[in-house]
Amino acid sequence: MHRRLALFALLLGASVSFFALDLGRFLSLDYFKSQQAAIEAWRAAQPLAAAAMFFLAYLAIAALSIPGAAVLTLVAGAIFGLGWGTLLVSFASASGATLAFLTARFLLRDWVQARFALRLRAINAGIEREGGFYLFTLRLVPIVPFFLINLLMGLTAIRTWSFYWVSQIGMLAGTLVYVNAGTQLARLESLSGILSPGMLISLALLGVVPLISKKILERLRMKKIYEQWIKPKRFDRNLVVIGGGSAGLVTSYIAAAVKAKVTLVEKHKLGGDCLNTGCVPSKALIRSAKLLSHMKRSAEFGIRSATAEFDFAEVMERVQRVVKAIEPHDSVERYTSLGVDVVEGTAKIVSPWEVEIVGNDGKTQRLRTRAIVIAAGARPFVPPIPGLDTVGYLTSDTVWNLRELPPRMIVLGGGPIGSELTQCFARLGSKVTQVEMLPRIMVREDIEVSEIVTARFRAEGIDVLVNHKAKKFVVEKGEKILIAEHEGKDVRIPFDAVLVAVGRAANLTGYGLEDLGIPVGKTVTTNEYLQTNYPNIYAAGDVAGPYQFTHVAAHQAWYAAVNALFAPFKKFKADYSVIPWATFVEPEVARLGLNEIEAKEQGIAYETTVYHIDDLDRAIADGEAHGFVKVLTVPGKDKILGVTIVGEHAGDLIAEYVLAMKHGIGLNKILGTIHIYPTLAEANKYAAGVWKKAHAPEKLLELVSAFHTAARLGLPLRTLPERFFSE
Ligand SMILES: Cc1cc2nc3c(=O)[nH]c(=O)nc-3n(C[C@H](O)[C@H](O)[C@H](O)COP(=O)(O)OP(=O)(O)OC[C@H]3O[C@@H](n4cnc5c(N)ncnc54)[C@H](O)[C@@H]3O)c2cc1C
Repeated sequence: MHRRLALFALLLGASVSFFALDLGRFLSLDYFKSQQAAIEAWRAAQPLAAAAMFFLAYLAIAALSIPGAAVLTLVAGAIFGLGWGTLLVSFASASGATLAFLTARFLLRDWVQARFALRLRAINAGIEREGGFYLFTLRLVPIVPFFLINLLMGLTAIRTWSFYWVSQIGMLAGTLVYVNAGTQLARLESLSGILSPGMLISLALLGVVPLISKKILERLRMKKIYEQWIKPKRFDRNLVVIGGGSAGLVTSYIAAAVKAKVTLVEKHKLGGDCLNTGCVPSKALIRSAKLLSHMKRSAEFGIRSATAEFDFAEVMERVQRVVKAIEPHDSVERYTSLGVDVVEGTAKIVSPWEVEIVGNDGKTQRLRTRAIVIAAGARPFVPPIPGLDTVGYLTSDTVWNLRELPPRMIVLGGGPIGSELTQCFARLGSKVTQVEMLPRIMVREDIEVSEIVTARFRAEGIDVLVNHKAKKFVVEKGEKILIAEHEGKDVRIPFDAVLVAVGRAANLTGYGLEDLGIPVGKTVTTNEYLQTNYPNIYAAGDVAGPYQFTHVAAHQAWYAAVNALFAPFKKFKADYSVIPWATFVEPEVARLGLNEIEAKEQGIAYETTVYHIDDLDRAIADGEAHGFVKVLTVPGKDKILGVTIVGEHAGDLIAEYVLAMKHGIGLNKILGTIHIYPTLAEANKYAAGVWKKAHAPEKLLELVSAFHTAARLGLPLRTLPERFFSE
């Protein structure tokens, strides 16, 4: 900080002296003309000293962003001629520009990047990808002031070396024009005549050449990708969608809504994971488990005792009834009536425009399609732990088939799925041990969130084992045992059933990606338009990542459908700036935007405001007075960067902040909005109130207090102490 201040003071001093001493008069065309003969004589006598002196003067002017570079460039032509003049100016201007760039970076970049980090994310990504091209264009077109480019580029993430060489090459054409004009200095009356409109247009055209070349190269790359395939002259479909889960259903729905001919192929069950083995059954099970937990807590509500008689199998049957009740929303009939051609079968991409479908009825068909959306989803990841296959295991795919409650259960994994099912099975009566190899469960959330959930789990009798790495499974005397490593020692955990919930792996094989050479990492690789390397093949949902939620799959589906149908006329970049999610454990945890861990990792400056829900009337009345609303804001402003809510119905409460963040509504406006009393939603407003209190305008309040005093005592306002009116 001190070094920054010292440099700033130095620069300020230099600039103030420059203007105070009117040194600018030495950088005028007239002054040079009047001194031209003397300077030329000096150069003839001491050419090296003159060149060095000129170089340093130019460097200083460029580095300090002082006006005068254009005049000095002309002087270079007049004194040193076209060749040497261009050489000197080219190196001096690029070096000076780089010094100015580094100065701006040193003084301001950290501050700018921290303060405007969210907004700068896209710019930084753009600079990372195409910064050189943009800089080159800006340098070639001398309409944008030289010093401004240096300073602004210093605030971005462009590398110094790239800045230097792109600047040097980019400025060369303009330098040549000016130095050449300088060779005729005597005839020059002003700077304005040097660049005629024709010259400006030529430079501008030169500036866009690299961008155009890039586009041409992209076209050629695309042509090369497609050239090994024969493009059909006509298509049977506008779009074929592979996979009928959340992403595929929404994609085909949108396509049908905009009157495209679309086929949706699903090999298993429409509705995919969410309906059949994910969100819906898990939330149905959570509901039954919650009822049991409330009965256990009956005394808290003034009910002396409440007992539940239940059969686990009946609970699991209810889960299936819930799935069945929602099924019609995702049914073949519904989608057919919406205009989607639904095919039950397995799809394989056989060329960029052809999908082969082996129907569940054994019939095969090949559809020619203008575009394809891959929405093939993900499956539970099962780590290769020795002995796992021998003991047998459950996953989120198979756990729904259980009809007998395992007396002792291990849940492997402390993420959202593992945590939700841990609490459910514990509440239903299993003795559950949750095993997590990281230092805490729900590791994506802030530390205190994990602590609250862990404490609740332990209070409910769950054995939460963190820092425990599953090493192997064995069967000893008919008993299944997990051997986990904890602090270098083996820990033995006997169990009856193990549920593996350590993450989900995208489905990437078996349906043509390998044959077409579509690149994949953990998910299908796409650009921000959700296009794969074949621009007419898109991916959405869990198979595309980076989030694995139904609402994100549906969100991406809109982009995939619209881009697939309307590109190249119009394309939209998928927007992940405001992504919420919830983990439906008790206490419920909901997240939006940044939490503290991420803000710190990304170097984003933030302020934290916390409202504790134990103070909220409705939460107290409901016997749920726990948890908090934590809002991260831009320092000194009410702009929301992220929210974490822990507590009853957190996933519902956060919707207000989702809307606010999406539409740039700050905490002041949330505070000024009427919330129904008594509701849990009031917590959102009270969090805004906490923020407001911390940012109360102290001076104004002092003034208002003085006003009240004067009003009470009947004093004229002018008798109030003068300091109240001084600011
Ligand atoms: C236990 C659990 C709880 C969850 N809870 C929530 C929650 O509360 N909230 C939330 O937002 N998310 C939740 N999720 C995540 C959510 O289920 C997924 O993010 C969502 O289902 C992803 O949808 P998708 O369309 O990308 O993939 P999927 O739903 O997996 O659909 C992909 C479909 O493609 C089909 N398919 C694959 N290959 C082919 C082929 N070659 N031909 C034809 N068909 C093919 C598959 O059969 C599948 O039906 C949960 C997940 C689990 C496992």
